[in-house]
Amino acid sequence: MSAPRLEIDLDKIHHNAHVLVDRLVDRGISVTAVMKASLGSPEIANAVLSAGVSMVGDSRMENIEAMNRAGVKAPMMLIRSPMISDARRVVRYADLSLNSELDVIRKLSRAAKSAGKRHGIVLMVELGDLREGIMPADLERIAGSVISMPYIDLHGIGANLACHCGVSPDANNMAELSNLADAIEKAFGVTLRIVSGGNSANLNWALSGASTGRINNLRLGESILLGCEPLHRQPIEGLHTDAITLVAEVIESKIKPSQPWGEVAQTAFGKKTLAADRGNIAQAILAVGQQDVDPEGLSAPTGIDVIGASSDHLIVDCSHRLLQVGAEIRFQLNYSAMVRSMTSPFVSKVLRASSNSIQVQAKTHPLPKNHIIVT
Ligand SMILES: *Cc1c(COP(=O)(O)O)cnc(C)c1O
Repeated sequence: MSAPRLEIDLDKIHHNAHVLVDRLVDRGISVTAVMKASLGSPEIANAVLSAGVSMVGDSRMENIEAMNRAGVKAPMMLIRSPMISDARRVVRYADLSLNSELDVIRKLSRAAKSAGKRHGIVLMVELGDLREGIMPADLERIAGSVISMPYIDLHGIGANLACHCGVSPDANNMAELSNLADAIEKAFGVTLRIVSGGNSANLNWALSGASTGRINNLRLGESILLGCEPLHRQPIEGLHTDAITLVAEVIESKIKPSQPWGEVAQTAFGKKTLAADRGNIAQAILAVGQQDVDPEGLSAPTGIDVIGASSDHLIVDCSHRLLQVGAEIRFQLNYSAMVRSMTSPFVSKVLRASSNSIQVQAKTHPLPKNHIIVT
C-alpha cells in the first residue's frame, strides 16, 4: 500500500462521536461535528452522523461543497465568518453560518434573496480569547439589525474560546453567553434556537456537572477525531486516541555520528539546536516531511525518536537498532500534525470500517478547481 498514508478507522471515529453525543445529551447539549480537518470526507461525515451528531460544520466552503456533492444529508454550518466575496456560495451550500460582521450578513441577505432562499445566522460573541466575535456591549444593537434583515433568520449566538490565546471556557464566560441569550430574547421577543458554547475545549466544563445554562450546542472536531481535549491535551475517558495513524516508509538506514561536521549555519527551516553527542547512532530517514505533516506533532513508537525534518525527509534515531529500508513505521499525531497530513495531497487516506473493509482515496487528489489561479 502506498506511503505516506493516513489510516483512518471509521469505527473508532464513530465510537468517539457516539460517546460524546451520549454524554452531552444528558447535559442538554447537541453536537455539531466539525469536519475541517478532513477535507470534507463524506465517509467521515457519514460515520459521525450515524453516531447521532445533529449537524456538520466546516470552516471552508470547499469542504461544505464536497459534502453536498457527495450527498451527505445533514444541516451544514459554515463555522468561519463568510468572506463577502463568497456570499453566493455560502447561501447556496450552507444552511447557516457563524457571523460577526453586519456588512457580511447584509451581503448574505441579498444573496439569499437572489437564490430564493433564507439563510441562518449565529452571531459570534467575543468572550476574551480575542479571535472572532462581537464585543458583548455591541451584541444587542447588531442582533436588532440582523433580525430586521429580509431572507435572514437569527438562529442564535455562539462563542469560540481557546483557539487564539488559550482562554478556557468556564462557569463565568459560559454564564455570560447564557445571559446574553436571555437579554436578546427579552429585548426583541424572539427565541434563540442555538446557543453554541464553543469547541472541544468546552468539554471539561460541559461534562463537569456544573449548570450548562442556556448552552445547548458544541462544535466538536479534535475530540471526535483524536479522542482528547485540547486545553491540556489529555485523553478523554472512554474515547479512542488512535483512530488516525500516519504510516511512513524507511528510505535510508545507516550508522552515523550523532554530531554533524563542518561549519554549521542555518538549515532549510531555520536554526537547529543540536542534541548532545551520543557517539554513533542508528539513523534512518523516512519519506515524509514538512509538506506532509507537522513533525513536532508526531509520536513515534518506543525506541524511535524524531530528531529532525526537512520538506521531504524525516530523520529518526532508532536507538542502535537499524531499521530495514522499506519498513513501515507508524506514528500517532497531535492536532497540528493531523491537520497537515489530512490536507496534504501527498498523503493518501485509507479509510477502514468493519462493515465494508477498505476504501482508498486517490493519492494525489487534485486540488479543487477554484484553487488553480491562472494569471
Ligand atoms: C475549529 C473550530 C471548532 C472545532 O474545534 P475543535 O477544537 O477541533 O473541537 C469549533 N468552532 C470553530 C469556530 C472552529 O474554528
